[in-house]
Amino acid sequence: MRSPYGRAMTDVKRHKILLDEDEMPTRWYNVVPDLPAPPPPVLHPGTLEPVGPDDLAPLFPMALIGQEVTSDSYVEIPGDVLDIYRLWRPSPLYRAHRLERALKTPARIYYKYEGVSPAGSHKPNTAVPQAFYNAEAGIRRLTTETGAGQWGTALAFACTQYGLECEVWQVRASYDMKPYRRMMIETFGATIHPSPSELTNAGRAILAATPDSTGSLGIAISEAVEVAAQNADTNYALGSVLNHVLMHQTIIGEEALLQLAKVGETPDLIVGCTGGGSNFGGLAFPFLREKLAGRMSPSILAVEPAACPSLTKGSYAYDFGDTAGMTPLMKMHTLGHDFIPDPIHAGGLRYHGMSPLISHIYELGLLSAVSKPQSDCFAAGVQFARTEGIVPAPEPTHALAAAIDEARRCAETGEEKVILTALCGHGHLDLPAYDAYLSGRMTDSEWADHDADAMARALAALPAVPA
Ligand SMILES: *Cc1c(COP(=O)(O)O)cnc(C)c1O
Repeated sequence: MRSPYGRAMTDVKRHKILLDEDEMPTRWYNVVPDLPAPPPPVLHPGTLEPVGPDDLAPLFPMALIGQEVTSDSYVEIPGDVLDIYRLWRPSPLYRAHRLERALKTPARIYYKYEGVSPAGSHKPNTAVPQAFYNAEAGIRRLTTETGAGQWGTALAFACTQYGLECEVWQVRASYDMKPYRRMMIETFGATIHPSPSELTNAGRAILAATPDSTGSLGIAISEAVEVAAQNADTNYALGSVLNHVLMHQTIIGEEALLQLAKVGETPDLIVGCTGGGSNFGGLAFPFLREKLAGRMSPSILAVEPAACPSLTKGSYAYDFGDTAGMTPLMKMHTLGHDFIPDPIHAGGLRYHGMSPLISHIYELGLLSAVSKPQSDCFAAGVQFARTEGIVPAPEPTHALAAAIDEARRCAETGEEKVILTALCGHGHLDLPAYDAYLSGRMTDSEWADHDADAMARALAALPAVPA
């Protein structure tokens, strides 16, 4: 064996591709002006006219409303936000040499790892600026929903950085299944309630009709929005779906572009998991910019759970973002706002709708989508953990399963594809889900005919929106 000290650097495999702190991008990217057609407007549920800034002011600070509708291609990241980002950013890009070897694939697999953040996921990338702009506007408290608890954890961390109170409604199924996230949210100083709760009109209405409701992200959003709308010193923060959230997450893709350039690679396939679309959009949009400018030509693939397939099975229609119907109407791929998906371990992917921006880009034919049952995803997660040494959160195992499928195809065809994925969180607080998988207790609930009926009922109840 040769001494490692005598080796030339060129012999050393690059596992981690790092950026220095001063190489971190200082702007977020807005994909909207680069698209061949603008996305449809968000509508007021009463008038069915496009919403204006005043309609959103009870919930969001003007700085974020401005970012939601901006036609600028870039927004400067405030210095104070950059300073907090530097606690964990730039995040590492890894080459999955050991996974590649196990798959005997000529494909080169890269993953951008967001599990190094305080919450263990990509969510603080938007939680920090959202807390910053709210604090700057003199707001005292933020309310929000959380599914698996990742977003609640991220917002609790961000609020404590700026001295804001934080109140979180967590989907009942996850609240019961994942107590460690609740403990982490409380450690960061926030208050947390299971949803549906007795604290709001929306929660009480659901409990009256369905006392043992497992909850949903749509219900939890209704509760958090209701409290924010009723209190002048309180705003609401959303962890995904909206344009400004996806824009904040583009720090992921901007860093990955610089990191791949360091090793002279361009991706042939970008694959990410989609709940509301923020980690996927955050990784993919800067590469989509390069693609639209003709500088590279990656395929872009969204992977969603078979139990909640908004892109692959949902309708592209105007729908509410929440269950009680309090939010503006957004045109998006939706399973219907009162559709309640079966509980799955990837709680962060259990949302009835898809980001309007991702939905629009899907309609433009600039990305494709597949769905996967959770046991296939956990098989991929276990293979990834055993080769690369990181236990992934249940959500990104969907992306890993699709990346592994593609790498296996490459093993058959001999194609040397470059695959890039976002490993958007670690699964250290999701180990009971791995336990269920490893002990054979995991079941797959597929979206089925009864779901189609429920979706049809939910969509029939929507206001008709003129074309
Ligand atoms: C919240 C979350 C998701 C789903 O949200 P997106 O907006 O689709 O990214 C996926 N993975 C992890 C780890 C999450 O915390």
